[in-house]
Amino acid sequence: TAPLLDLRDLRIEFQNADGVRAEALRGVDLSVNPGEVLGIVGESGSGKSIAMMAFLQLLPKGARVTGSAKFRGEELIGMAPARIRRIRGKAIGCIFQDPLSAFNPVLRIGDQIAEAIRLHDRTVSRRAALKEAVDLFEMVAIPQPERRVHQYPHEFSGGMRQRAMIAMALANRPELVIADEPTTALDVTVQAQILDLLADLRRDLGIGLVMITHDLGVVAGIADRIAVMYGGRIVERGPTDAIFYDTAHPYTAGLIGAVPTIDGGGQLRQIDGTPPSIFGRPPGCSFHPRCPRAAAPCRTDDPDLRPAGGSRCACHFPLVPAGAAG
Ligand code: SF4
Ligand code: MG
Repeated sequence: TAPLLDLRDLRIEFQNADGVRAEALRGVDLSVNPGEVLGIVGESGSGKSIAMMAFLQLLPKGARVTGSAKFRGEELIGMAPARIRRIRGKAIGCIFQDPLSAFNPVLRIGDQIAEAIRLHDRTVSRRAALKEAVDLFEMVAIPQPERRVHQYPHEFSGGMRQRAMIAMALANRPELVIADEPTTALDVTVQAQILDLLADLRRDLGIGLVMITHDLGVVAGIADRIAVMYGGRIVERGPTDAIFYDTAHPYTAGLIGAVPTIDGGGQLRQIDGTPPSIFGRPPGCSFHPRCPRAAAPCRTDDPDLRPAGGSRCACHFPLVPAGAAG
């Protein structure tokens, strides 16, 4: 069977106010199979959200997209907007960082979920759709679902609102769910609960899940595979175990160093500096100004993604030998 999501050499180019063009995404290859969880990790500006926005055809006008983005074998690049809208929201569910932005503040949450169901199937009655919303609330463990579907967004706590947004994303029984920083706005305890819920849903429903996050720790326990992005490209990609225990790329190692210790205490290690903007990207390996291993070739040659340890890594001096078994 075709992968749910399949990106091949996906590139996105933007133009700034002065007419200067720059690539926000520089040739990304990624796939997600049914029932699989892919973590996409990187700092802001790495291109992780924009890759998914291109897949969902949600990029601002003026963005030039080339390459291929397929959903279940069907090319989405250049597809008619009406057809894309039918796929989005039906076969693909989305969860974002801020649940408040996903809901209309003056409408009851249950009615909004019912409307999302009826938008894709007008044969469902209002009453049946509301009953479905109650079932969805139950599925995402919102207590007293019959009562709470009649409440407004402001009557929900942050964590409950995020559960409601997950219910909304699942409303049309999607095959693929894309979650962009789904727990970033939540405190640590609630974050852990939401991650448990997503892991349960993936197991029980067999959906494919893409988790986009700046925090490698968030996807450690849930992702089957991880892609680490920097400067608009993938710098390391592989099975989760290989990423953590056989780390090849210095940037990935830095991200792992920034994972908080188990007792919730301080950061172990930080990468100095900030990521480049797409219009100010350095030549060669775009990580070189921040990399403790940088040497002469790093400043001129952008390394290709090659086998290293158990993953693929774009680095002239990977931390594990090229091609070694992981
Ligand atoms: Fe560091 Fe050079 Fe590897 Fe880039 S290519 S990550 S600068 S060692
Ligand atoms: Mg983002």
